[in-house]
Amino acid sequence: SERKAAEERARQRQSQLTHVSRLGTLGQMATGLAHELSQPLAAISSYAQGCVQRLCAGDARPEELLEVMEKVEAQSSRASQFIARLRSFVRREAPRRTRVDINEAVRAASELLAVEAGQRHVQVRLDLAGTLEPIVGDPIQIEQVVLNLARNGIEAMDGNGFDGRVLTIRTEPADGGSVQVSIGDLGCGISSADLGQIFEPFFTTKSSGLGVGLSISRSIVEGHGGRIWATSTPGDGTAFWFRLPSA
Ligand code: ADP
Repeated sequence: SERKAAEERARQRQSQLTHVSRLGTLGQMATGLAHELSQPLAAISSYAQGCVQRLCAGDARPEELLEVMEKVEAQSSRASQFIARLRSFVRREAPRRTRVDINEAVRAASELLAVEAGQRHVQVRLDLAGTLEPIVGDPIQIEQVVLNLARNGIEAMDGNGFDGRVLTIRTEPADGGSVQVSIGDLGCGISSADLGQIFEPFFTTKSSGLGVGLSISRSIVEGHGGRIWATSTPGDGTAFWFRLPSA
């Protein structure tokens, strides 16, 4: 029917928008991501040089070389794991519906966040529930929500002293077998007037902000049958929460 076709078009547009927003986020993070990759590559290069020098000098003991080659192996799997994370994050495909381990989505997001957090001197604390029911949905979209919320939190603490920059990401079981994620910062906070508008498309208080992160995050969470909200004490920090029904 006409209504079904319109719904399908709206769903496709939403999925395209979500993908474009993900690409935008990665674009903003590109420098940090490249840095994250250059570290294992530099390590591999220096281990390999060491091996070559020893082999040329003729004093290479096999057990020593083996140890170094094992380090090369470890660093190269670190790099390829990171590339795999990036590739799945940028991949454009129809949203999946699969069982998602929320803790895994949080770990994946925090891996992408690591450099940005480091550069801004923010300590990221993960407080993940031991056992959580899986939810049904798209793991990359859930990761995208966590990344959006966490990056906002990191940015909000720019004005703090270095020891007051802590971002806490917590997962816990909630009512009726649902799963709750909270992302708390100690940043500037959000005024009660703004709190009612932050999820609106294009609402931003940042000079170079786009104001799409939270509206996309809300549509993802609601598309998974969940809800998202924020609580804030101006001057003390903000927490974003989202809750998703389990499988
Ligand atoms: P953008 O980050 O581009 O502004 P968002 O949709 O992600 O877009 O956020 C909208 C607005 O919500 C931000 O401009 C900011 O005013 C506010 N905001 C979001 N997260 C936080 C936070 N953790 N602390 C303070 N303000 C926040």
